[in-house]
Amino acid sequence: MPVDYHMHTPLCKHARGMPREYVEQALARGLPEIGFSDHNPMPDGFDPTVRMSRAEFPEYRNMIRSVQRRYSDRITIRFGVEADFHPGTEDYVREFLASEPFDYVIGSVHYLEDWPFDNPEYVEEYLKRDVDDIYRKYYALIERMARSGLYDIAGHLDVVKKFGHRPRSDMTEVVSRALGALRDAGMCYEVNTSGLRKPCREIYPEAKIVSLAARMSVPVTLGSDSHEPGTVGQDFDRAIAMLREAGYREVWRFERRQRFPVPLP
Ligand code: ZN
Ligand code: FE
Ligand code: FE
Repeated sequence: MPVDYHMHTPLCKHARGMPREYVEQALARGLPEIGFSDHNPMPDGFDPTVRMSRAEFPEYRNMIRSVQRRYSDRITIRFGVEADFHPGTEDYVREFLASEPFDYVIGSVHYLEDWPFDNPEYVEEYLKRDVDDIYRKYYALIERMARSGLYDIAGHLDVVKKFGHRPRSDMTEVVSRALGALRDAGMCYEVNTSGLRKPCREIYPEAKIVSLAARMSVPVTLGSDSHEPGTVGQDFDRAIAMLREAGYREVWRFERRQRFPVPLP
């Protein structure tokens, strides 16, 4: 088993279980390395119901430091964050990311303008819009996110499929542009198994995108996007099979925002 770099804590207000329990699950699954990546603080008033505040951030840092110390002889634990990419907030995010010694930063697009499209409370908005247009706007944001230079890993690429809304047209061209931008920015993307637990019932991103990314030599890492301890490392056998099928022979691990290859089992 390689790494699981995507897990949350109760500080984001929609996850449960203490970091210690996530670590215990990782040990039970035989993971040698994991990383916490809770949702980042954003400027005042920016969707505060799904994230910690800036004032709570030291508590997050201390929680991670404490499990790092406690488990230092059994597992490597990285200090990461899942930071939103939302045009207009880049200066805040840049300042915040520079203020902490992160091992890696996952960049995620969770909003199209002010619509939190992956939040089940706002799912009916999909029916009011053109699905192809949603996909095009989403991948255009991924491209801008890559060009911002703020992030190391693109989180859950193709999360717009979460509730089962599929594009009618072929998205290969927009997806290729986004993947090219990630590669040119020196970024990884993650194969994220949480989609298997969502209505779309599919890993993020889909196999076709993973194959395309492999052909384009876009580096990759792995995450379960756990919001509860039980899903740490879940379905990684399927993720690894998918990566090997696409032609990948390695994934990447991070330390102080530098990346290093790990051979796939
Ligand atoms: Zn979350
Ligand atoms: Fe996310
Ligand atoms: Fe997440």
